[in-house]
Amino acid sequence: MLKIDAAAVEIFLVLFAEFASFAILNNMRMLDTTRALYNQEKKSRKNCYFCDKAVINKQECTDFKYIHWYVLINKHPYLDGNLMVIPKKHKTKLAQLSAVEWSEFSEVIVDVEKVLSQLFKTDSFNIALNEGKNSGRSVPHLHWQIIPRKKKNRNAVEIFAKIEVVTLPPFDLKVMLSKK
Ligand SMILES: [Zn+2]
Repeated sequence: MLKIDAAAVEIFLVLFAEFASFAILNNMRMLDTTRALYNQEKKSRKNCYFCDKAVINKQECTDFKYIHWYVLINKHPYLDGNLMVIPKKHKTKLAQLSAVEWSEFSEVIVDVEKVLSQLFKTDSFNIALNEGKNSGRSVPHLHWQIIPRKKKNRNAVEIFAKIEVVTLPPFDLKVMLSKK
């Protein structure tokens, strides 16, 4: 007669449950209706998104004032605190930036890091730029993503599905920056 060890069955069930939740989470799809609307709007748009004054008025962090650059919130942040730096003039390649724009850019990056570092209590950042149509850029107008990185307790979604969770709504970040 087949003898079933209760402890072995229990271990099997626990492992199976772990595997099932891992598989479910790894195939998880997330619904982001704002991203879908943004993609639709982008397709129907004839002019450059970042050359639209209405977009700048809505997303600009006005406490950062520069001659050649805007600092904007990202409406679809990769992580909490995600800001963007864009040239005021429509430039699609690094080679199109002038010496004065480059010179001021170094000031902008340092200022943005300083403010985000105080706000998010970190000295770690991702600073990213996608250049050219095959790079995965979403808008041709040059835009750097500045993302503060914090060491934090990771939750189950982040561990199992390798998904980072954004908890701070972008327009709340804009308000936080204007109050600092
Ligand atoms: Zn543009």
